[in-house]
Amino acid sequence: MEPLICPYCHTTLPYNSYFCFNCGKKVHEPPISVWTELKIYVYSILLPPIGLWYGYRYLTGKDSIKDPAGKRVGLVAIILTVVVCIALVWQVLLIVKMFTEALNTAMGQMNGGSLDSLGL
Ligand SMILES: [Zn+2]
Repeated sequence: MEPLICPYCHTTLPYNSYFCFNCGKKVHEPPISVWTELKIYVYSILLPPIGLWYGYRYLTGKDSIKDPAGKRVGLVAIILTVVVCIALVWQVLLIVKMFTEALNTAMGQMNGGSLDSLGL
């Protein structure tokens, strides 16, 4: 492994440094903790847009997130977000279908016809 050069003060650092011992700036993102990983997954499930944002950041290694586990976390966050979105759309479609059927039944009872017979 090549030694690391601090991008701020150009001090040569051991390759596995997270912080520069000379200027104290962060040169590498520390490895993702289990808590951070869990937090990202929970965000992906409960707040899909945030999950996508995290997923994009980790997958592209933005903000010097160089942890190899980061790409995996990013990928899982995006997959979770997509799955949750598909499940949400599916639920909405199911509710719309139920509502339409209930409306059809109600209309049928009122008019002796259904929405279909009205050409809707
Ligand atoms: Zn430095």
